[in-house]
Amino acid sequence: MRSVHHAFGKRDVVQGIDLDVAPGEVVCLLGPSGCGKTTLLRIAAGLEVLQQGRVALNGGDIAAPHARHVPPEKRNVGLAFQESALFPHLTVLENVTFGLKHEPPKERRLRALALLEQLGMDGYADVYPHMLSGGQQQRVALARALAPAPQLMLLDEPFSSLDARLRDRIRDDTLHVLKKVGAATLLVTHDPEEAMFMADRIALMCDGRIVQTGTPRELYCAPCDPFVVTFFGEVNELSGEVRNGCVDTPVGAVDAGWLAEGTRVRVMIRPEALHVVERKVADTGHRYSHIIMAKLLGRSSLLHICAHGEDGREAHLHARMPGVFLPADGQPVDIHLDSSQVFVFPSVAGTGTG
Ligand code: ATP
Repeated sequence: MRSVHHAFGKRDVVQGIDLDVAPGEVVCLLGPSGCGKTTLLRIAAGLEVLQQGRVALNGGDIAAPHARHVPPEKRNVGLAFQESALFPHLTVLENVTFGLKHEPPKERRLRALALLEQLGMDGYADVYPHMLSGGQQQRVALARALAPAPQLMLLDEPFSSLDARLRDRIRDDTLHVLKKVGAATLLVTHDPEEAMFMADRIALMCDGRIVQTGTPRELYCAPCDPFVVTFFGEVNELSGEVRNGCVDTPVGAVDAGWLAEGTRVRVMIRPEALHVVERKVADTGHRYSHIIMAKLLGRSSLLHICAHGEDGREAHLHARMPGVFLPADGQPVDIHLDSSQVFVFPSVAGTGTG
């Protein structure tokens, strides 16, 4: 899609979106609630009439300002939503074969059974939807969307109504099937972990615009602005100033050599960037830090730390250490900074934290 704009009344909810999905690629539209993800998906599906820009499938316009609006059923796209309703009076097999009207019955049946098997639903072909759990219904809905082998799959929060354990399994199966059939897929989610698991590329949206597009690794390891950093999880934020190519913080100096001397900056430090080591001997030397509180969260421990810089500045920070690491309250600690998880951005008026 190119330069896609969309407004509801006077409110612009999609503003100048350019996005490509290659055959076999899974692209996740990720972003907070209300940023325009579903609207964009509905435009691609033809459920919203395009207002500005163009949408093409396989090189041919399916929606453009002076072109005919191609209705959803003629677009060769597969749709599955959060609560995809199955036809209650049809069996699972009949639901999945529903869109395969042009094929001989035997082929229809074989294709549907193969998809059901790939999604872990073999043995349910003759069952009616009301006899299935929510997770099973969602699998059938995915199989139904995939059955006509669409060029483009459009999935809107397809796993969000499932409980956590089931969700992981269905995500896994779905990704496997999507890759096997080689469909181009656009998947909407507000869950960064889901996007990182499912996506070849993520398009992170905010207020109707794409802020950054890239592989999960690019967005996580090379975020282009503070919004991208914060979207992928909790972050400690400090302010500072560039001096001799660095920013001094209570947990060490951070490289900022690409910024002009004196630039005011935001330093964003992921809790995982702080490696905490207990001090064996009480030390009153510089960079003295101590534990305020330690909590076990299961696979990791969250430490609330008070760090003191050389200049006497104090900062309260969260550190996350793998496994069980629970120093006593007040325990002196040393902190080592993993610079790959620290990001420095120039402060913009009104966005700094002072
Ligand atoms: P969520 O994750 O909550 O579903 P989203 O990112 O998918 O959010 P959209 O559903 O695309 O966001 O909605 C974008 C904005 O457009 C929201 O503010 C929403 O209230 C508004 N909106 C969506 N559909 C309509 C509509 N039919 N009429 C008026 N406003 C709408």
